[in-house]
Amino acid sequence: MDLGEKLIRKSTLTEKEFAELLGQYQDEGLRKRLAEEALRIRRLYYGNDVYIRGLIEFTNICKNNCLYCGIRNGNPHVSRYRLTGEEILSCCEKGYGLGYRTFVLQGGEDGFFTDERLTGLVAAIRGKFPDCAITLSVGERSYESYRRLREAGADRYLLRHETADEGLYGKLHPAGMSLANRKRCLYDLKRLGYQVGAGFMVGAPGQTMEHLAKDLKFLEELQPEMVGIGPFIPHHDTQFAKEPAGSVELTLFLLSVIRILLPPVLLPATTALGTMDPLGREKGMLAGANVVMPNLSPEKNRKQYELYDNKICTDGEAKESSSLMRRMEAAGFRVVSARGDFRSEGKR
Ligand code: SAH
Repeated sequence: MDLGEKLIRKSTLTEKEFAELLGQYQDEGLRKRLAEEALRIRRLYYGNDVYIRGLIEFTNICKNNCLYCGIRNGNPHVSRYRLTGEEILSCCEKGYGLGYRTFVLQGGEDGFFTDERLTGLVAAIRGKFPDCAITLSVGERSYESYRRLREAGADRYLLRHETADEGLYGKLHPAGMSLANRKRCLYDLKRLGYQVGAGFMVGAPGQTMEHLAKDLKFLEELQPEMVGIGPFIPHHDTQFAKEPAGSVELTLFLLSVIRILLPPVLLPATTALGTMDPLGREKGMLAGANVVMPNLSPEKNRKQYELYDNKICTDGEAKESSSLMRRMEAAGFRVVSARGDFRSEGKR
C-alpha cells in the first residue's frame, strides 16, 4: 500500500500508518512527492508569501528544568539576563522600521513576569503598535493569566507540547512537569481565542516513529493554527550532551506531512533547522513551511539565550537577514510585511 498517496488522498492516516510512513523518510522519491503536494497546498492558502516574525528573547531566567534545554534552571553556567520594558519596546521599534508586523516575546518561565508586569508590557506594545500581532511564548500559566494577557492585547501563543507520549514526556522532563498540564494550557489558550502554536522536537532522545505518529494525531485533534518543529540539538551542559541531533531530512518530511494534515497551518522553518543545515530554512520553505522568525533581541544578549549548542542567530536587521530574504526570493517566495494571520480559507 502506498501510504504517501493515501495521505495525499485523505489528508490523514491512522497512527499506525503514520508510524509506518515516517519510517520511509529516507525514500527521496516519497519525500519529493509529499513536498510537492505540501507546496501546492501552501500556495492555495498563502500564495508564495513568506511571513516574518520578529523574535524577542526577553528573559533567559527559568524556573523549569526541561532536561534537553540549555537555559534550564539547573544549569549554573548560564549568565542570566532579563530585558527591561524599555529595551523590549525599542526592539519592537527597530523591528517595525524593518517591516515586521508580528512580535514574538519568548522567554523562560521567569517569576519576575507576574500577570501584572506582563499584561503591562503587552498593553504597552499593543498601544504603540496597533497594527501588529503580539505573540507570547512564555510557557505554562493559569487560565486566568492567559485570559488577562489576551485581554491586554496578545493575539497568539506558542507552546510546543514537546511530545504527545506520556512515557517520553516523563523522560524529557523532571517530575512535577506533566503532559496533562501542557495540554490543559493549549486547550485553555484555544478557548480564549488565541491563535495557538503546538509542536515538538524531531529526534529527541528516546523518540521513535511511533512517538512522532502520536504527535501527528495530537496535532490533528488540537487543530492548532501554528506548528513549530525543529531537530533536537544537544546542549553541552545537559545530560543529553552526547546524544545525536535530530535529522534534517526527517524534519523536512514532517513539515510536508503537517502541511498536508493541517492545510492552512502557519508553519515556520525554525532556527534549529537553520542551525543543522545552512540551507535548512530554504529547504523548509520548499517542504511546505511559510514562516521565518529572525531575531530582534539586543545583540549583547543573543549568546545568552542558548537553548542548544551553536544556535545560529539571524539578525533581523543585519545583512544575514537580508541575505536570508534574498535566498527565500531566489527559491521562488516573496517575503512580505504583514501580520500574516491564520487563514482558514484559500486565497483564491
Ligand atoms: N519557556 C517557553 C519557551 C521554550 S524555548 C516554553 O516553555 O514554551 C522554545 C522551544 O525550544 C522549546 O519548546 C523546545 O521545543 C525548543 N528547544 C529547547 N531545547 C532544545 C534543544 N536542545 N534542541 C532543539 N530544540 C530545543
